[in-house]
Amino acid sequence: MSTTDRKVRVRFAPSPTGPLHMGGVRTALYNYLFAKKHGGDFILRIEDTDQTRYVKGAEDYIVESLQWSMMAPDEGPGFGSNYGPYRQSERKGIYREYAEKLVENGYAYYAFDTAEELDHMRELAKQAGTPNWQYNVVTRNSMKNSLTLPKTEVDSRIANGDPYVIRIKLPRNEEVKFEDIVRGWVSVNTNNMDDKVLFKSDGMPTYHLANVVDDKLMDITHVIRGEEWLPSAPLHVLLYRYLGWEESRPQFAHLPLLLKPDGNGKLSKRDGDRLGFPVFPLQWQNPETGEISSGYKQQGYFPEAFINMLAFLGWNPGTEQELFTMQELIEAFSLEKVNKAGARYDHDKTKWYNQQYLRLKSDEELGELLADEAAGRGMPVDRDYAIKVASVMKERAHFIREMIEEGGFFFEAPADYDEKTLNKKWNAEARHHVEQLIERFSNLQYFDAEQLEMAFKAYLTDNDLGFGKVGPGFRLAITGRGMGPSMFDICAILGKQETLKRLQAALDKLPA
Ligand code: GLU
Repeated sequence: MSTTDRKVRVRFAPSPTGPLHMGGVRTALYNYLFAKKHGGDFILRIEDTDQTRYVKGAEDYIVESLQWSMMAPDEGPGFGSNYGPYRQSERKGIYREYAEKLVENGYAYYAFDTAEELDHMRELAKQAGTPNWQYNVVTRNSMKNSLTLPKTEVDSRIANGDPYVIRIKLPRNEEVKFEDIVRGWVSVNTNNMDDKVLFKSDGMPTYHLANVVDDKLMDITHVIRGEEWLPSAPLHVLLYRYLGWEESRPQFAHLPLLLKPDGNGKLSKRDGDRLGFPVFPLQWQNPETGEISSGYKQQGYFPEAFINMLAFLGWNPGTEQELFTMQELIEAFSLEKVNKAGARYDHDKTKWYNQQYLRLKSDEELGELLADEAAGRGMPVDRDYAIKVASVMKERAHFIREMIEEGGFFFEAPADYDEKTLNKKWNAEARHHVEQLIERFSNLQYFDAEQLEMAFKAYLTDNDLGFGKVGPGFRLAITGRGMGPSMFDICAILGKQETLKRLQAALDKLPA
């Protein structure tokens, strides 16, 4: 097998059976990074051969998720098309030929057993103490297939349109070996494998056949996919051999599982919001039940943060650096540095990444996002105002939405006042200080943070007061809260009129 001289071509091959789990996005990401690092192509192939599991909207969801995650495919449905079509259902006519070729060459056979007959065999085996009955090198001899039935019967059954499947004919006791880039040498004995169906009675190939044929026809050089496919890889290796494609067989890299935060088991689609965080990149509404699962995007995550976090679930560059742009990830990524062990998801770390990316953004950019968010919540503000708010809130927020949740006073005068601060700090003395501040602030010509601070401090000095005597009442009156960013920054942003109005409103509304 020589893949060294070929242009790197990798594929992300999801089945449209529901929303894309974040583990799937990570698989796509490693494919993308590997392709881009080697100047290769990243292909999206939709594996929809199992019509019974098809879910409406899932393909669009997959494409939108890749786009949001900044990984537009080079080829795929709706993208470039040198090797199309990219939906297996549209390639239906391609596969039979290969299945038939395998039969002709003695590597596969027709099997006519009905579902009832197979169930019956399973039941018998169970009663005899073998719970996992398999169609294999031993059992196939007592089944209805082209290896046991006379040729004339096989021919007439086929001519009559009897339903049949095509199964691989595994050899007895043969070691299938291949080198996985992540896992090293893998070796499985065919005695531990079964005669998988390659071609179904409905005229569609199974995943195994379609996957191998498409990878060959699409000139794929590296198959990078989740560890759950490792047990299928020996079968795929044999298929490449039996189809005469061993020379161009792609290299395999099976990625470690994504684990739940406690390390107990695989992070599954069902974990959804149950564990307190999204497992999907975008929000998904189940078309049948209407049930909504949250998405990273809608929860306020930046795609850069989501991607950076995902890249580190199973890979690390071997340095201290944790923040990587997509371009930096492309440069640093290698499959050799992907871990074998499962990667535990850490939600605090994900939030940390978002906070880091939020801080890296300019006030202008944050202001735009904040203005959009505020407008979406029916509290429109102008862009310049939002930029100022963002500049003081950015150090305290993990998300844009927190700038509104924690800084609501920038958007609306307080309707309620924090109970605890009110009880502890609001009294006749506090009212008096607020009255005095109104007077001092009214006289300010430039209403900026510096002037406000000077005026405030002068009031403290003139009256020999500590900050703790005046500050809390002042904050309560302006923001309704007990804590927050610098009061001088807040008042400067609110402006003179609004500041004075709020101080007065507190005096009017809050009895001492
Ligand atoms: N269709 C398979 C999936 O849904 C693809 C596995 C592979 O990449 O070979 O994960």
